[in-house]
Amino acid sequence: MDRAEHIRALQAEYAQLQAQDRREAEARLREVLARDPEIGVLRTRGAAIALEAMREMMRQTDLEKRRQAAEKMRRDGLENNRQLRLRLTALGLPEDYLEEKHRCEKCRDTGYTDDIPARFCECFQKALRLRMFEDGTMAGLDRQNFAHFSDELVRKCNTPQEAQNLLFAKTICQQFAQEYPRVERPNLLLYGPGGVGKTFLLNCVFARLLERGFSGVRITAYRMHETMRQKHIGAQEEAQGFEELIQTPILVIDDLGTEPMLRNITVEYLFTLLNERCAAGRATLIATNLSPAELKERYGERVASRLLDRSRCVTVRMAGADLRQGKPRNGGEEA
Ligand SMILES: [Zn+2]
Repeated sequence: MDRAEHIRALQAEYAQLQAQDRREAEARLREVLARDPEIGVLRTRGAAIALEAMREMMRQTDLEKRRQAAEKMRRDGLENNRQLRLRLTALGLPEDYLEEKHRCEKCRDTGYTDDIPARFCECFQKALRLRMFEDGTMAGLDRQNFAHFSDELVRKCNTPQEAQNLLFAKTICQQFAQEYPRVERPNLLLYGPGGVGKTFLLNCVFARLLERGFSGVRITAYRMHETMRQKHIGAQEEAQGFEELIQTPILVIDDLGTEPMLRNITVEYLFTLLNERCAAGRATLIATNLSPAELKERYGERVASRLLDRSRCVTVRMAGADLRQGKPRNGGEEA
């Protein structure tokens, strides 16, 4: 089961939880009304007070009279609630006996907080982590976090300069992962030769964003290309369809530039993807071995301008501990 499937299953559980909260509150109400019918009268009156005040406020053009109507509603409402609470207390019940009770009051069992973009509540994240841990879905991602970053990569650097470059890239990525969605530029492009830790760093960012409750999709350029090809030939879309790549709040593309170049597909669909995500302000995080010049050459001006747009994208050149090629270069932030 992948992460998206776990989320769907958990969302179904939460929907049931909410329905159960409602049913339980309704059952408590029936029980109370059987013991004291006057409570039903008070509840009806409470609703009528609010409705009457609304009508009055819509009727009145005079601001002062509107204010008076609002004030009257507040007073009458408070008094009505006071009587309701007294009656509940007289029955030996707590004052909030008729209110819906939630397992989690933070999200009222919806699984979401009120943030924009939508973010999973802590209770949901915890349940998701548990499910994924039991299922092994987190394998790989769980060790790729910022805490392990320093140990595993900086140690491999050949010179202090390389280590410094790497730590600089780490700082930028960590800041992004920590501050999203309140970031000036929602896109991140890590480029540089193979073996310098781009994928690792990208995974660190993604793991942290998931940890913070955001949702997204991580995909290799090769699989992304397959999704585009399927879409192009009108085939039954895979679980991770092209539309999902456009819609997901955070998209992580690893190894951009390693996918096949197919006429009418690669460049066209990549442009659509980046363009729609840019227009919607969604975050796209990319790792590539290609330099900005090579990106321009491969995908053309239109795609490159979306990839490298300095107003939307933080571009980080990663170089340093290139273990496979053994030729360190200077690194640093370009944009
Ligand atoms: Zn919650």
